[in-house]
Order: sequence, then C-alpha cells, then structure tokens
Amino acid sequence: RVVDNLSSLLRSIGASEKVFQSMDLLPSNQFLSKGKQCLVISWTGGVKLQRLMGHIQFVNVSFHYPSRATVPVLDHACLTVEANEVVAIVGLSGSGKSTFVNLLLRLYEPISGQILIDGFPLKELDIRWLREKIGFVGQEPHLFHMDIKSNVMYGCPRDLKQEDVEWAAKQAYAHEFILSLPHGYETLVDDDLLSGGQKQRIAIARAILRDPAILILDEATSALDSESEHYVRGVLHSLRNDNETKRTIIIIAHRLSTIKDVDRIVVIDGGQIVEIGNHRELLHKNGLYARLVKAQTESWD
Ligand code: ATP
Repeated sequence: RVVDNLSSLLRSIGASEKVFQSMDLLPSNQFLSKGKQCLVISWTGGVKLQRLMGHIQFVNVSFHYPSRATVPVLDHACLTVEANEVVAIVGLSGSGKSTFVNLLLRLYEPISGQILIDGFPLKELDIRWLREKIGFVGQEPHLFHMDIKSNVMYGCPRDLKQEDVEWAAKQAYAHEFILSLPHGYETLVDDDLLSGGQKQRIAIARAILRDPAILILDEATSALDSESEHYVRGVLHSLRNDNETKRTIIIIAHRLSTIKDVDRIVVIDGGQIVEIGNHRELLHKNGLYARLVKAQTESWD
C-alpha cells in the first residue's frame, strides 16, 4: 500500500511527527515504537468504545519532548472539552498549541498527568481505532496526484456517491472553487493547482467524509488572508449548525478573527493555560487574548 511504503521510506530518513502532520497522515504505532522510545509501544489493541462522544480531558498534564528534556512544554495543564464543543487554541508561536494535539493523537505520552477521552484513559484506548475517529487536518495537508474527487474520497469506503463527496466539499467550503477548476471534481491535482487554503479545504472535506467524532484543524498560516478567514469561519459555521454532523472541533487558530464565534477559546502561554472563555469574555478580561487581538487588528490596519 502507498501509505505503508511511504511510512517505511520516511522511517528510513528519520522523519518526525511534524512531517506526518504536514502530510495529513498519522503514523502507525509500530512505526512510532521504533522511532521514539517515549511513544506508544504496544500493538496489542486496547479498549474500543461503542461510540465515541468526543469528550476530552487533560488532567494536570506535564510534558517535554524527549530530545529536550530540560525544556518543559506543558506544565500541569488542565483542560476539559465537552462533546460537540468547538474550542480554539491560541497563543504565540512555540507556546505549545500543537503539543496539545500531539498528545491527544498519542504521538507522545505525557510525562505526568492523564488524558481522558469520554472518561477513559487515552492510553487504554485502542489507538488505531481512536485515530480513525479523529479527523486531523494539518497546515499543509498532503494531496495525492489523483483527481479532486479521489483526493476527497481518499481513505473512505469506495461505494460513496458523487453527492456524498459534494456534500462534504460544500461543508468544507470547497465545492465552488472545485467547480471553477477546468474539469471540476475530475481535475487532476498537481503541484501548482491549488493554494494552501484550497488544499486545506480539500483535506477538511476528506476529514468530514470520514465522519470523525473529533475534528482537529490546524489553521494554515500560509493562507492567512481574507480567503482563509472566510472559509475557516464558514466551515466552522456550517459544521456547528448541522445537527447531523455535530462533533467536537478543536481549531489551532493563528488568525484570531476566524474564531470569534467558537464556544471557548483556550489561551496558552509558555505551556500554561492562562485564559479560557469566549471571545467577548476574553476581550473584557483584557489579558493576553485581548493583547493578541489588538496586535493583529493593528497589523491589518
Ligand atoms: P506554532 O504556532 O509556531 O506552531 P505552537 O504553539 O504550536 O507553535 P509547539 O509546536 O507545541 O508550539 O511547540 C512548543 C515548544 O516545543 C516549542 O518550544 C518548540 O520548539 C518545542 N517543540 C515542538 N516540537 C518539538 C519536537 N518534536 N522536539 C523538540 N521540541 C519541540
């Protein structure tokens, strides 16, 4: 299989989890266990829940990367995300936003503390099963040299219909630009065809089609323009307002205007959660979030 071959190739060149994230692929346990000692070792299964509700809890989680043991990244972090909640994680570059997601995907283990999913310790859950239930869209998702439709359907059952693909593309705000391509859904994807934001929308459509209980979106910094603002807000809006597609959504946001309407915003600074609230509450608090918003607003003026 293409992904297996790719995995062994990347393993041979010592690729890090960032590479997999940028490719929108998650490495298997087997691969991780060879590459990093601090990662999950066992392939022996684990608990599979009948239905994943998408409730997430970080309890006193501390973490540092194995290669930098002297640099704590998360320090006794506590965070609860309710099922179906839409939560944004914001903070300066290097504050620890992606690390939250790395731990949630169990690419690394906390040094101390616990992560619970629907009340179950993450490390007791069958990790392959869990990753199937989590849709992760990285900043630079990998698209394959196939047509748009096959890219959206990648990893989904083959018996999906055109209307299913279009439904997911509409939810991801991708349908219109796909139709404007020379051959619509049959257009072959090559290097120069799509912008970073468009690639992300295809990857969001792909993730939505898999119907994940938890959707994680790392907003593309390469598309921090009005296009990005429009589609990220639109995607969040359509996903929140469709009762059939309710799911927990976590967005790592770089452009703060995109996340004004999320349920809660978690502000991280130096690995610590320093503020939690909705946009209005945090502006009123006049702390780090308010300063970040002010700085971004001024830079747009
Ligand atoms: P950005 O907005 O720039 O993506 P971030 O808030 O997502 O940053 P993280 O990527 O979580 O921040 O990084 C938190 C800290 O951990 C930083 O000091 C970073 O240098 C360090 N770090 C991140 N990944 C690794 C790694 N694989 N190995 C060692 N240190 C890492």
